[in-house]
Amino acid sequence: MIIDFHTHIFPDNLAEKALSKLSAIGGIPYCNNGTADCLIKDMKLNHIDYSVVLNVATNPNQVDNVNNFALYIKEKYDNLIPFGSIHPKSVCVRDIVKSLKNNGIKGIKLHPDYVNTLVDDESLAPVFAAASEMDMLVVIHTGYDFISPDLVHASADAILRVIKRFPDLKLVCAHFGCNLFWKDVIQKLCGKNLYFDTSLACEKFGMTKQVAEVIINNHDDEKILFGSDLPWCEVNIVRDFILSLNLTDEQKNKIFYKNAKKLLGI
Ligand SMILES: [Zn+2]
Repeated sequence: MIIDFHTHIFPDNLAEKALSKLSAIGGIPYCNNGTADCLIKDMKLNHIDYSVVLNVATNPNQVDNVNNFALYIKEKYDNLIPFGSIHPKSVCVRDIVKSLKNNGIKGIKLHPDYVNTLVDDESLAPVFAAASEMDMLVVIHTGYDFISPDLVHASADAILRVIKRFPDLKLVCAHFGCNLFWKDVIQKLCGKNLYFDTSLACEKFGMTKQVAEVIINNHDDEKILFGSDLPWCEVNIVRDFILSLNLTDEQKNKIFYKNAKKLLGI
């Protein structure tokens, strides 16, 4: 079994526009057309059993639409696990988290760079508090992002401040803990109460086998989750990268599905 913990899709009528805009900003191509049906096709082709679909509201007015899309995806596709979203300027944060939880949504994605907010900013504290209280997972983008190359919104130090304040929070730090800041991950984040996903893990996006092995071997291997970041990185590339690492079969099984299965209650 393989569970991809990090994918993105868009409503059919918005996908092309959204992808071409993001692709132009980042200067990176996309590898599928960003729709749910296309993701399902990719999953079949690459033997992926479930995909977590991470949705992000980039302004407070989008939150309802994004969360309604998540609910629509959940109802329509048995093997897609959509997460909801919240904006730091959202009002009634607790009600939004509660409604997501009551509708069977397992977690929330926050992208601090897209909402111009440091991850340890006071405006995000109510989101972490509500998620922690209701046992909702939170996935955050971490480290470098092409949309904000000069200001890192989720640095290792900021992440540490969040988990110090919310010790029960189940926080998934995308891109191996802190994208491209591998020294910080090894020195500051490994061994802490954090999940790392493997999204973008390949040479093209700045990860090496040696670094990945050091991170995994210095962290709790029950807290590493396989993820690709489709449509920005092909799932087979990250899968082959993880398969090529010098790890035990049991470690790979945990990364590919056992840890995610437990966390998602599958
Ligand atoms: Zn992503």
